[in-house]
Amino acid sequence: MAIDAIENRIDGRAIAEQIHGETRRHIEALSERGTPPGLVFVRLGEDPASRVYVGMKEKTCDRLGIQSTTHVLPEGTSEKELLKLISELNANPTVHGILIQAPLPATINEATIFAAVSPNKDVDGFHPVNVGKLLLGDSGGFVPCTPAAVHELLIRSSVPIQSAEVVILGRGNIVGKPMAAILCQKANHANATVTLCHSRTANLAEHCSRADILIAAIGVAEFVKADMVKPGATVIDVGVNRIADPKAKNGTRLVGDVDFAAVQPVSGLITPNPGGVGPMTIALLMRNTARAAARATGVELESI
Ligand code: NAP
Repeated sequence: MAIDAIENRIDGRAIAEQIHGETRRHIEALSERGTPPGLVFVRLGEDPASRVYVGMKEKTCDRLGIQSTTHVLPEGTSEKELLKLISELNANPTVHGILIQAPLPATINEATIFAAVSPNKDVDGFHPVNVGKLLLGDSGGFVPCTPAAVHELLIRSSVPIQSAEVVILGRGNIVGKPMAAILCQKANHANATVTLCHSRTANLAEHCSRADILIAAIGVAEFVKADMVKPGATVIDVGVNRIADPKAKNGTRLVGDVDFAAVQPVSGLITPNPGGVGPMTIALLMRNTARAAARATGVELESI
């Protein structure tokens, strides 16, 4: 368990390193069998956050032995051109995973693009087939990396999930909805009673204060305050928000959706932000890529 010895912080970086260790072993075994996992990033335009995110993922690929390639397309690329590239990548047997970095320019329909990626190479877990498999409890698909990361954090921190009251803030397609689908399954490390809150939820604070596990994924800086948290509850902060801070370098800094300083004394285990869910999300992307390569060659990763 990677929990700070003095405080109640879950160390997402340390748990991510554990997962990287497991994934590296799988990648080495796949490479020895002639199938080094290949991951392709597609990035449109020069959005600074997208550049940083893809750069971090590329570095992790290098570190673990995943062969990564990045296609940087101009901002004005048409949907047709992007679909042509995806079709070529789908047909390329050395490419096991395809990641289209969001957000895409407004001229491009994200749903059309995500649905064009082969479900077998959809390591982000956004394709409708994989979304459906997750809902049905079929483990043969790909689960979106961030909710899968939160699930791993809970499991590896020995947080009881079965029969727990879980409150998720946010019903986005990338975090909130798949998170609910994971935790409400009739399965090991699931069987939770899940409440999904959003901007139209009445008495939101009341819902939060009942939670044994509170997961915040709304994108509102430091929204969760101490009086919304049941004493001892596990708190997982997914949000990434940039706020003004004259004392910080560049005059801004990143904070989560949880007011960490106020909530930490009340909560049980809690993720810091940064250093909690973020590094885990990359670890789950790497694991999904190794899985995609293994499935493409009919190898059972668990047998390696
Ligand atoms: P999203 O699709 O925009 O969904 C946001 C959700 O929050 C919506 O359901 C919205 O409600 C709800 N919401 C917004 N303001 C609210 C409020 N004041 N009270 C209650 N609910 C509110 O966002 P997302 O993609 O799920 O991302 C959520 C956050 O997670 C963002 O900060 C994002 O940057 C972060 N994130 C982090 C990682 C990571 O690796 N750490 C990965 C992905 C996302 P409505 O549906 O009613 O509009």
